[in-house]
Amino acid sequence: MTIATATITASAQSSNDFKYTEETFADIQMLRYQVTGFDQLSLRQKIYIYYLSEAALHGRDILFDQNGRYNLRLRRAFEAIYTGYQGDRSSSDFRAFTEYLKRFWFSSGLHHHYGSEKFQPTFSQSWFEEALRSVWTREKLQSLSAESQRSDEAGLQAFLKEVKPILFDPTVMPMRVNQKDGEDLILTSAENYYGEGITQAEAEEFYARRKAPNDPQPVMTGLNSRLVRGEDGLREEVWREHGLYGQAISKIIDCLLKARPYADNAQQQAVIDKLVEYYRTGDLRTFDEYSILWLKETQGLVDFVNGFTETYGDPLGLKASWESIVNFKDLEATRRTEALSANAQWFEDHSPVDPRFRKPQVRGISAKVITAAILGGDLYPSTAIGINLPNSDWVRREHGSKSVTIANLTSAYSHASRGSGFDTEFVIDEATRAMIRKYGDVTDDLHTDLHECLGHASGQLLPGTDPDTLGVYGSTIEEGRADLFGLYYMGDPKMIELGLVPDGEAYKAQYYTYMMNGLMTQLVRIKPGNTIEEAHMRNRSFIAHWVYEKGRGEKVVELVKKNGKTFVKINDYAALRRLFGQLLGEVQRIKSEGDFPAARALVENYGVKVDATLHEEVLERYARLNLAPYKGFINPVYTPVRDNQGTIIDVRISYDEAYDAQMLRYSRDYNDLPDMN
Ligand code: ZN
Repeated sequence: MTIATATITASAQSSNDFKYTEETFADIQMLRYQVTGFDQLSLRQKIYIYYLSEAALHGRDILFDQNGRYNLRLRRAFEAIYTGYQGDRSSSDFRAFTEYLKRFWFSSGLHHHYGSEKFQPTFSQSWFEEALRSVWTREKLQSLSAESQRSDEAGLQAFLKEVKPILFDPTVMPMRVNQKDGEDLILTSAENYYGEGITQAEAEEFYARRKAPNDPQPVMTGLNSRLVRGEDGLREEVWREHGLYGQAISKIIDCLLKARPYADNAQQQAVIDKLVEYYRTGDLRTFDEYSILWLKETQGLVDFVNGFTETYGDPLGLKASWESIVNFKDLEATRRTEALSANAQWFEDHSPVDPRFRKPQVRGISAKVITAAILGGDLYPSTAIGINLPNSDWVRREHGSKSVTIANLTSAYSHASRGSGFDTEFVIDEATRAMIRKYGDVTDDLHTDLHECLGHASGQLLPGTDPDTLGVYGSTIEEGRADLFGLYYMGDPKMIELGLVPDGEAYKAQYYTYMMNGLMTQLVRIKPGNTIEEAHMRNRSFIAHWVYEKGRGEKVVELVKKNGKTFVKINDYAALRRLFGQLLGEVQRIKSEGDFPAARALVENYGVKVDATLHEEVLERYARLNLAPYKGFINPVYTPVRDNQGTIIDVRISYDEAYDAQMLRYSRDYNDLPDMN
């Protein structure tokens, strides 16, 4: 599981002059992260990171294709225009096209990375046709069209005929992932995990038949394949070497094997060997074996994720998008998460849930704070600030999981938001703002740690409960559960005892920003008239609205008006903590019993709907701040320095590559999949 950025609040002091912020376009601001400590690593560790980062970049094409079946061909056509167009590059059409392409790169496809709605071009169709025609022959784009053997013009015409509705008709492929209750979620979603025309009922039936009902160690069926219609019914095209995406996977294997000799220890080499075996066979049992080896390797300094991991992009939550992150331990901050892990059983035993739903023994929680060195696939450019893996339920139950919080990314967000005016606009008064300035950084990091190290790892299913029972509500309920665990314990005296917060006031900063975000400010990410779709946003919304409503009689939390503007006012922080505990108990019950109707009611009643009047007000106030609601990161560039024999004698890191230059370089150097898949 991943957790995204929680809120946007100002805080933190900075002393160095690293440039965190870069260009802004549409609703996005590009940032950079600093790989603090890279220069102090040994040569061996630097080379290890270098090859692992190459492996992280070779999966890029996979994600583009997973996000939509036209994405790779469109990307090549767009980039040919962007680099080769010799018409008027200052025209409004070209400028609109440039912004469109930057968004397309950012979301690895035609649809918004977060809301999943299709981008509507603001350049004209006729301009696009002319621009494409002007580069078609020179840029050798013939392979984009099935008609390429006839003539350039026939190929161009066939390509345009195919892609124009995809680009310009808002009713074609409107959503990448449609989650609307009651619709056919596969037919109405544009992701490329299911072949054209396959219905939700067919896919569900296919996978229901494959489930081994009494297997105590079930593999994550469907995780690493596309479901297609063959001659004799549905079948899977597995993502593996010599299978679908095999060209990219071979490159990834290559880089992993180059990294292998430089690993920190033999256990890491065993992890790489098992991952390579899995990439070669596509066998999901091998993937579980790999996951177990991976989660148990906690001694090395450098670590990585590389593979088909998160299922947020599949409306059925089965198929995983490709992602990678390479990182190394932040030793100082790891002290914090180790204090939590060491006390995991205490937290489990005191959690405000029915004792039947507690784990008698919480096992294998390892937690660390890391420095990201490279982001790839579905973690780039938009990324998570915390990761808890693996996702397999039985592996987690029997072997535990590994949790990380990514400190240099959190720190970059925090630096970028300083002085943005956000707090002044949305926080109720100066006393509360001062509290957030004083405690906000500490409690944000701590909430992430609690969510990842303890929240996801806590609790158990009742015997016989199918882990997939909650269906489309599963992710939202799970993320809500982890958040609530964090919120509840944030206000516990144990935090002071463990030295994780300075005093008994600190948690209030987190409570205030969480409620402000869940009730109001996260709405800046939603278009007028839309409802909340994304799992993390839904969970924050249902938590905030549920406690707001339940505490209404006692006025625990209020929405008050000042000068015509709405503000969150918290009157009783202790009562708010009790409400978080109460909801944690209920959410854990829903998860443990697999209570689908209750999950649906909670999410649909509290997590999805948007108050139109408040939404309009929040959007209007936010617009006046001129801030981009989404952020993403430009990667650093690693350059090996070689001696005369070609041996790597150093790896240099630099931070000066522009966003478009990075995207074009990646498209050129990690161009692994064919146009027509
Ligand atoms: Zn999570």
